[in-house]
Amino acid sequence: MKDNHYHLLGRKILASMLVVPAVPFVLLLIIGSYYFITTAQNTTMAKMARIVEDHRQIVDSFLSERESDLQFAADSYDILELIKPETMSQVFENLQKKSAAFTDFGVFNQTGVHVAYHGPYALAGKNYADAPWFRQVLKDGLYISDVFLGYRNIPHFIIAVVKKTGDRTWILRATIDTSIFKNVVEKIRVGKTGEAYILNMEGRFQTQRRSGGDLMSKDPTLETMPPVNLAVESTVRKDAQGETFLYAATWLKNKDWLLVARQEKAEAFKDLNRIAYLVILVILVGGLMIVSLALYVSRRLVGEMEHIDTEKEELGRQLIVAGRLAEIGEMSAGFAHEINNPLQIIRSEQTLIETILEDMKERGDVPPSEDLAQIHDSLDQIKFQVDRAGGITQGILKFARKKESSIREIDLKVFVPEIITLVKRKANVEGIHVAVEIDEGTPLITGDASQLEQVVVNLLNNAIYAIVERHGPSGGELVVSAAPVTDGEVVLSVQDNGGGISPEDMEKIFTPFFTTKPVGKGTGLGLSICYGIVGKMGGHMEVKSETGRGTTFFIRLPKV
Ligand code: ADP
Repeated sequence: MKDNHYHLLGRKILASMLVVPAVPFVLLLIIGSYYFITTAQNTTMAKMARIVEDHRQIVDSFLSERESDLQFAADSYDILELIKPETMSQVFENLQKKSAAFTDFGVFNQTGVHVAYHGPYALAGKNYADAPWFRQVLKDGLYISDVFLGYRNIPHFIIAVVKKTGDRTWILRATIDTSIFKNVVEKIRVGKTGEAYILNMEGRFQTQRRSGGDLMSKDPTLETMPPVNLAVESTVRKDAQGETFLYAATWLKNKDWLLVARQEKAEAFKDLNRIAYLVILVILVGGLMIVSLALYVSRRLVGEMEHIDTEKEELGRQLIVAGRLAEIGEMSAGFAHEINNPLQIIRSEQTLIETILEDMKERGDVPPSEDLAQIHDSLDQIKFQVDRAGGITQGILKFARKKESSIREIDLKVFVPEIITLVKRKANVEGIHVAVEIDEGTPLITGDASQLEQVVVNLLNNAIYAIVERHGPSGGELVVSAAPVTDGEVVLSVQDNGGGISPEDMEKIFTPFFTTKPVGKGTGLGLSICYGIVGKMGGHMEVKSETGRGTTFFIRLPKV
């Protein structure tokens, strides 16, 4: 029942100790990780977007540079001069100097006939009048194609510009090697999985993707193309293999191509994950610390409470014993008083018998005889025993009487022997030798004699108890001494050769209710009361003890 109570109490304390730090801890964790993850995610996405934007400029300027190269060639020559094979070769050489991506160079008239060509294929003479690129360039003055295979059956794309001479229009066309263009596009290096590629309007690969994706096939990840504008669109998507990627894509300025950069999310967030693991570790360690601390503290608290409760119970029990003892004390004072009266009567009867006997002897009524001597002996014995009993009852009465506190001068040379008589008989019965050593120069002290008597009697009783415990009925030594000490103090000491006090008990003996005696034999109040009384008299109590050798209590009191 009681165990259950403490168990429940422990559980309640533990629960509150866990809940109180757990609530802010969890809240902090949720809010913190939410903001941390979103910020980290946004930062990573923004980084991807920035990379794509920078990269668009590189790809765009590659295209516009190639276009300007071609336009420069168109503007630098008269058309009749240009289409001469040696000029064509010279122009191509110059183009190649600008960029190795140029693989051939051709000139067309406005009817679509390939009038001059410099390159690895025999394309001169072919007619392109119906080719969509041809119509487009006539219309717009500039054309950049998607990647296609064409007659040559290798991937390439073309750039075409217009040259006007009078009322005639000429078209200059150059082929761009995709392998070189690919290098420009793929320059992006973000981590291990970061890559960049280009898609046309239909979502077909214009450059090969490092992680797979055939040229001109459709990118399965981007089912819908983002709207054509220069904004960078960042998204998180799963590709066909189920891998999640961070995407950033933007349209080029010079061509309706979409530049895409992507990186595996796992890799992009690797640092984030590392921090997350660290946070989890901190949470685990922190949580473990909180739990173990809560467990420790709650157990300790409950333990202390249990201890305090038991101590309280013990104190209550001892208080009852003390109360009972006080009652007995009062009752014994009453008994002593009651017994004293008959003793007085017996004593006066005995004196009367003695007087009568003396009278009869004087009158010669009783001649001296053996019997008379015996009667005298008996009367002496009665007198002795009655005096003895009277002494005991007087002692009890004197001790029990609650006198008003009266401070007066006390002469220890008289006071100590008086007290000794109170315990002498008891000491004799226990076979204890009592020695009194009062220094002749012991000065008077001031104090309450009856209270001091209570103190010394208590010390003597404790000493007798300790001696009997150790020696039984013989071998006890009790020394009561008094002597002046230098600084205006007198020391009164009670020394015994009992069992002594253990060092751990030594700290507790002046504590109320501390006792090592069995129930009914001690209340544990004696020394604490003595300590209080001596303190009130302006004195001080000290004790020296050695287990197995004995104990000496010192009462230091101020002299008059
Ligand atoms: P009580 O005598 O009722 O136990 P006290 O306050 O007088 O209470 O003493 C407290 C305890 O101090 C005793 O129980 C005992 O263990 C110890 N003690 C006191 N005097 C002596 C002594 N002379 N020798 C050994 N132990 C002593």
